[in-house]
Amino acid sequence: MSGSCSSSCSSASTCGTKEAQQAQAAQQENAISRSLGKIKHKILVMSGKGGVGKSTVSVNLALALANNGHKVGLMDVDLHGPDVVRMLNLQGTLQPSATPDGLIAPLQYNDNLKVVSLEYMMKDRDEAVIWRGPLKMQAIRQFVGDMDWGNLDYLIIDAPPGTGDEPLTVAQIIPLVKAVVVTTPQQVALADVRKSIRFCKAVKMEIVGVVENMSGLVCPHCHEVVEVFKSGGGEKTARDFDLPFLGRIPLDPQVVSGSDDGVPYLASGADSPAAQAFANVVKAIELRLPPGKPSGPLPMAGCPCASV
Ligand code: ADP
Repeated sequence: MSGSCSSSCSSASTCGTKEAQQAQAAQQENAISRSLGKIKHKILVMSGKGGVGKSTVSVNLALALANNGHKVGLMDVDLHGPDVVRMLNLQGTLQPSATPDGLIAPLQYNDNLKVVSLEYMMKDRDEAVIWRGPLKMQAIRQFVGDMDWGNLDYLIIDAPPGTGDEPLTVAQIIPLVKAVVVTTPQQVALADVRKSIRFCKAVKMEIVGVVENMSGLVCPHCHEVVEVFKSGGGEKTARDFDLPFLGRIPLDPQVVSGSDDGVPYLASGADSPAAQAFANVVKAIELRLPPGKPSGPLPMAGCPCASV
């Protein structure tokens, strides 16, 4: 084969394949860098456990930022349990189409919000995804490099719970990605969220802050707060790790019906303590990651914009 052939090549055909693979990998690397170069802030929404409202926070955060006039992408890398498309009621539009540059057009929720999920690529959304690490890595690389995200102020990435292949891949391929960690207030959830925080420290991913979801239920009759899963645990965990606390979102049955019906809570026009709480979390994130500024290190503790 070629003169640059390494001595480890066993035959001409393997060498050719290797070179083709290397060229393809380099091409993909370029595509990923090109795509990321147009995106200011990348936010990975993480949780230690499933069911704490990570996808709900991802979807409503993306929508709220888009409603505030920012260009937003929402990338669902919860490959085994993608929910984002259903939560946004985009199932009917599941038809990947190519752009003139050979990229794939994300789903368009509205003028400001683009969405990509594995569900978008699957014929049958009830099909189980049985993939090991390398396939998942490849899918996420394609989600970044092969999609026509265009210029974005924020890319919100919904990860599966825990610290597995998906968040690790995101940490490896997306420089300066930052984490928003979602938890519920009870001890079992907090024990797991501490692992997420340690994961971020291990892979040197900065943390924008901690959100405590399902933090009390405002009784619709007497307006007393019932602490179903206790309250304050997320804030204490944030304090223990010297992280900003982004806010507490109460339980609200309308959040569940909104997710099930494909009408995200913040699109339902709800005027409630939960809607106000979501808005405060979004404000805190915008303050720490201003849309007009390119992505960089988070403000130092003590800086006025570091206090949320
Ligand atoms: P995760 O992504 O962490 O697995 P989801 O976002 O899918 O969790 O939420 C799990 C369930 O909890 C969904 O039915 C969702 O509608 C509901 N949920 C999330 N946050 C709230 C909340 N603040 N109040 C009421 N229900 C909520």
